[in-house]
Amino acid sequence: MQELRERILADGEVIGSQVLKVDSFLNHQIDPVFVMRMGQEIASRFAGEGVTRILTVEASGIAVAMAVGLALNAPLVFAKKSRASTQNDSVYTADVYSFTRKEAVHITVSARYLGKDDVVLIVDDFLAHGEAMNGLVNIVHQAGAKLAGAGIIIEKRFQGGGDSLRAQGVRIESLAAITSMEPGKICFAE
Ligand code: 5GP
Repeated sequence: MQELRERILADGEVIGSQVLKVDSFLNHQIDPVFVMRMGQEIASRFAGEGVTRILTVEASGIAVAMAVGLALNAPLVFAKKSRASTQNDSVYTADVYSFTRKEAVHITVSARYLGKDDVVLIVDDFLAHGEAMNGLVNIVHQAGAKLAGAGIIIEKRFQGGGDSLRAQGVRIESLAAITSMEPGKICFAE
């Protein structure tokens, strides 16, 4: 998505060689109009797949997943990072190593909101090493649901998560794919 690549070049900040900060429009301050456009673009790529649920993980995936859910008229379920005391029903769980926090987190989704009749589209803001995505794919399998694929805003392709998921047969659609980056220079795949 050309508009996204331009926005990353204009507003993104590369930290070291591994982390891209896009706090001005996606991860801290959110540009709602732009996020809606990105959600519609992801939705259009999965139109006709019969998606019944959007799945993401709190917190940064929620805004984009909401935009996709609105465009596909499907409810959005977000995996919680800790089991709330209000969550007494049966749950699907996965352990995910957090790239940004450098710690393992336990994610849970209530079995009430994901089941074997669902066709699931996973949505997230970033795909890096694929830890978060693997956890979410695992949860879709636990539910016995069908996986339509994953829609990602920014894939950092050089970190390999996308390629290993594609090798497992998961359809990944990313709106911008970064092949390399360093402060002041970001290269995108065509
Ligand atoms: P992965 O699990 O694929 O290694 O990393 C994906 C998760 O880590 C995403 O949910 C995202 O929140 C976070 N993440 C990974 N790389 C970046 C990055 O460069 N910038 C930001 N802001 N978040 C990232």
